Amino acid sequence: VARNPGEHEFHQAVSEVFESLHRVLRKFPEYVDESILERICEPERQIIFRVPWTDDAGSVHINRGFRVQFNSALGPYKGGLRFDPEVMLGTVKFLGFEQIFKNALTGLPIGGGKGGSDFDPKGRSDAEIMRFCQSFMTEAYRHIGSMVDVPAGDMGVGRREIGYLFGQYKRIANRYEAGVITGKGTSWGGSLVRTEATGYGVVFFTEHMLAATGRSLDGTRVLVSGSGNVAIYAIEKIQSLGGLVVGASDSSGSVHDPEGIDLDLMREIKEVQRGRITDYAAQRGSAEFIEGRSVWAVAEKHDVDVALPCATQNELDESDAATLIKAGVTAVVEGANMPTTPIAIDRLREAGVLFGPGKAANAGGVATSALEMQQNAIRDSWSFEYTEARLAEIMEGIHTRCAETAEEYGIPGDYVSGANIAGFTRVADAMIAQGVI
Ligand code: NDP
Repeated sequence: VARNPGEHEFHQAVSEVFESLHRVLRKFPEYVDESILERICEPERQIIFRVPWTDDAGSVHINRGFRVQFNSALGPYKGGLRFDPEVMLGTVKFLGFEQIFKNALTGLPIGGGKGGSDFDPKGRSDAEIMRFCQSFMTEAYRHIGSMVDVPAGDMGVGRREIGYLFGQYKRIANRYEAGVITGKGTSWGGSLVRTEATGYGVVFFTEHMLAATGRSLDGTRVLVSGSGNVAIYAIEKIQSLGGLVVGASDSSGSVHDPEGIDLDLMREIKEVQRGRITDYAAQRGSAEFIEGRSVWAVAEKHDVDVALPCATQNELDESDAATLIKAGVTAVVEGANMPTTPIAIDRLREAGVLFGPGKAANAGGVATSALEMQQNAIRDSWSFEYTEARLAEIMEGIHTRCAETAEEYGIPGDYVSGANIAGFTRVADAMIAQGVI
């Protein structure tokens, strides 16, 4: 804490992982002897840079850019870029730290990293977004590469931004290095299923968790927070498996839609018009807008079986957990990174609610990014069906790894510890094998 002052989210992420590790450290003292804990929470490299850009009126703005290259024991650094006014070094470090273990859990050869900027894309024109992305990449290009560090999207960075970033990389580096960034358009090196992958993956993981206790998603009532990339495709997959999604949200408030979210309308508003959740409520007769409240408020009005927080960190707190428990929730599975506060996790687990941590449940996005890197490396592109089948197989593997690790350490059903231990041991073993570097 003294070494990284003010980085609260980073401290939270590190302590959550370390709390799971005491059993491992007793069993394998070499991790202590080799100072793996000290080494693993110090990034290999952190880059902070100025991002100057000009708005449409000709005014100059300065933002701060970040890339934290956290751990390359398993492969090139891999992790998204987040553009959000609240981004600071501690945010990027928390996300990068989580990414190390998430990437390890996929079983694929990718290290952990993360980046972003405190730039606020909301309300900016396409031309402003393009100028910002070009300026960001004018510095970032020196630090990335398909064998070095491979960024992708995250909050505020979707297909459009990836296009502008890749275009500027190509221009400066003078080479078509498709594998330098993932989340590209499918006609220029992107992978089918990447857009859907995180949301679909969360639902595949949820299905396996429910199946392990003899249940399924069919007929369940579900709340999903957010209405961005992860939320939209989680909603799509839940509905295709027979679940009813009765609420979604954005940062202005939430909607309660007892007839189930109309996904075509939601996609039109969010993906095409870049509108707000209020626009959805205004155009959907069965929906009610709940201003300024999170989607968990819907659980005060509606029974809920499954909750998927898919918006942002620390968005589900102790009182939200109590509301969900009262509404009958039996499983909470994280689509976002660290959306549930530690105390809320404790309350849910004490109440017997199944809990799926983000670093396992939302790994489908980065796993499909790694599949995009594979396709780029062999200059091929795979069909939707094949790629989705690979994603499903990877999510099943992650579920099995978490569940079996929890069993092995005498804590069956504890997916948090299972994920932390399985991810940690894979990275730690590689670090030991590669020496003190
Ligand atoms: P998007 O930017 O596409 O969507 C984020 C959504 O969350 C928006 O609807 C946004 O609303 C909403 N939101 C943000 N802050 C709040 C808040 N305080 N309360 C309620 N809603 C809020 O991002 P993604 O869907 O890509 O990412 C969501 C989460 O999933 C993040 O934690 C991200 O790190 C994680 N993740 C994403 C992956 C991916 O492949 N995209 C992969 C793995 C994890 P508004 O528009 O009002 O801001």
